[in-house]
Amino acid sequence: MTSVSITPKGQARLRAGHPWIYRSDLGRHDGIEAGLVRLVDERGKGLGSALFSPHSEIRARWLAPEGVAVDAAWWLAMIRAAALRRRGIADSGHRVVHTEGDGLPSLIVDRYGDVAVAQLLSAGLESVRGQIVDAIREVLAPAGLLLRNDAPVRDKERLPRETTIAFGEIPKRAAYSEGALTLEAAPWTGQKTGAYLDQRENHQLVGRLASGRCLDLFCYHGGFALPMLKGGAREVVALDSSGEALRVLEGSARANGLSGVTPVEADAFDWVRDAAAGSDRYDVVVIDPPAFAKDKVSVERAIAGYKELNLRGMRLLASGGYLFTASCSYHVHRGMFFGMLAEAAADSGRRMQLVEIRGAGADHPELVTVPETGYLKAALLRAT
Ligand code: SAH
Repeated sequence: MTSVSITPKGQARLRAGHPWIYRSDLGRHDGIEAGLVRLVDERGKGLGSALFSPHSEIRARWLAPEGVAVDAAWWLAMIRAAALRRRGIADSGHRVVHTEGDGLPSLIVDRYGDVAVAQLLSAGLESVRGQIVDAIREVLAPAGLLLRNDAPVRDKERLPRETTIAFGEIPKRAAYSEGALTLEAAPWTGQKTGAYLDQRENHQLVGRLASGRCLDLFCYHGGFALPMLKGGAREVVALDSSGEALRVLEGSARANGLSGVTPVEADAFDWVRDAAAGSDRYDVVVIDPPAFAKDKVSVERAIAGYKELNLRGMRLLASGGYLFTASCSYHVHRGMFFGMLAEAAADSGRRMQLVEIRGAGADHPELVTVPETGYLKAALLRAT
């Protein structure tokens, strides 16, 4: 295996528990192809193996200590361990491998009933695609495995964007269970790998406290709207700018025997401004927007956007009403998110109680040493 030396700064990051090694943290490495490399210090002492990406700023991702063979059996054992960690999850839609959170950098594997969808997000990982596909087949035995390798981050690795079947058959819509509901993912064309699994536990939390009139802003396929109806809401106003997403929601509502959804195709910012000026109030408001900050420079604007939505969302609450609010922008860190909520609460004129601090579900393990594994921040608030 090719050896690459790593600078003291890079070594320090590894010791701090972070597996990423940047271009500038490596010694000479011209001409090395994507794949497994052995990391060494300046004296040639082995520091373990890593996935090497010749074009990405994150040039290597640490995998295993020196002396551990990273072969087909290793990938199988790692993916099996990840699957075992999800043993108690009853929902047939859940994440099976969460990248660094499961010690498998740049690999995502999601399960929707008997279908699996994976994303291989680095050039190094692509070099062992066969071993990963075999391991997924062995551990999950799905009817089919789709590779949703169309994520934009693949551009940074100079990998093509493509969606291909690794084996078996993949339907246009894949049914899966979440709580008491049967939902449908769109593995070929949907957001992420076909649904927002990271909110799985939050969908159920919000479903449990729903009553009366509820509002689901940025509803997509109804991840929150449907459990709210199931949980006892009389009416759910479900808003998204995508008419197609709303049609999927309506189909799922019918399939689950749920009535009371009012779909609204609109821009959430415009709608909420008008609504807050009107007199309708809601017992539960959900705000789950897309990532507004894709990088550090857009953080300030993103926070202004979150604040505007949350401020209006708070004003729309009935007395005693709940606000469930989330941000999936990694660059908006927890402290900033809660600071934004405090400002929104102050400006809204409502007294907001922090009922619960939330994040992604347990199937999206977050490592304390790798903050990137915990991008989703959320809070359950109550107007007192
Ligand atoms: N709450 C959903 C996931 C939401 S994803 C769940 O739990 O499953 C974000 C959604 O916001 C997408 O469906 C997208 O179509 C929608 N969206 C993006 N910008 C919007 C805007 N300005 N107004 C309304 N919806 C928007």
